Amino acid sequence: MPLYEFRCTDGDVFEQTHPMDSRPDEVSCPVCGNPSRRRMPAPRLSIAGSAAFGLIDSTRRSAHEPEVVSALPSAPRRAGGGYTSNPLHQKLPRS
Ligand SMILES: [Zn+2]
Repeated sequence: MPLYEFRCTDGDVFEQTHPMDSRPDEVSCPVCGNPSRRRMPAPRLSIAGSAAFGLIDSTRRSAHEPEVVSALPSAPRRAGGGYTSNPLHQKLPRS
């Protein structure tokens, strides 16, 4: 059930869950008992322009505009050509 925000005539703000098909426009305040009107929910503008929004956009775009790749991604090169870059592994005995 969605969460609705109410504000009473005294200014108390509280939230209640109601079924979407029978959400009340007015309930009584749990603090003072005054009639409380349902408030409009704030638009979620903060997620616009975020990394999650960019990921959604690029995923949607890739459905009809796949990115063209001209070369394979290169594997990162390790310094020294060894198997590990941990300096403690240099002290291990060589066979
Ligand atoms: Zn109140």
